Amino acid sequence: MFFSVKYNKKIPPLKRGTKEKNYEHSYFHTLKGHNGCVSIILTEDQAVKFGKDGSLWEIGFLPSEKITGYYCNKCKSSYEYSPEICVFIRREKEGFFVELFYKCKECKKVLFFSDLQSPEGIDPKYIVLDETGDYVIPT
Ligand SMILES: [Zn+2]
Repeated sequence: MFFSVKYNKKIPPLKRGTKEKNYEHSYFHTLKGHNGCVSIILTEDQAVKFGKDGSLWEIGFLPSEKITGYYCNKCKSSYEYSPEICVFIRREKEGFFVELFYKCKECKKVLFFSDLQSPEGIDPKYIVLDETGDYVIPT
């Protein structure tokens, strides 16, 4: 067919995500959790890191602007907006650890959970708890 070659290009090998016209240099991926999945937008560099283990450990925090939607198993629905984002910074003997949760805005189920290497650069509006007191200025 006349346009078949062009059409085929729209279905690329999906290992590194789908590249689309409106999001040049963006790669679409999915964070898969027990209660659902979250659709994310990555840069090429992030997509390569994500491809290694499908986690956010190497990539770090993704704010709501980098999320296009999610599917919740409990609601059995997909939503075209970001889930609720909660970050907990917990104190430990040797420093701290950081937990990131993406929760369904409707039923509050945790869709995806990840540990993060660092809380650097996370907007305080997402930080629910900071036991170190270094990242959220007390009000
Ligand atoms: Zn839900």
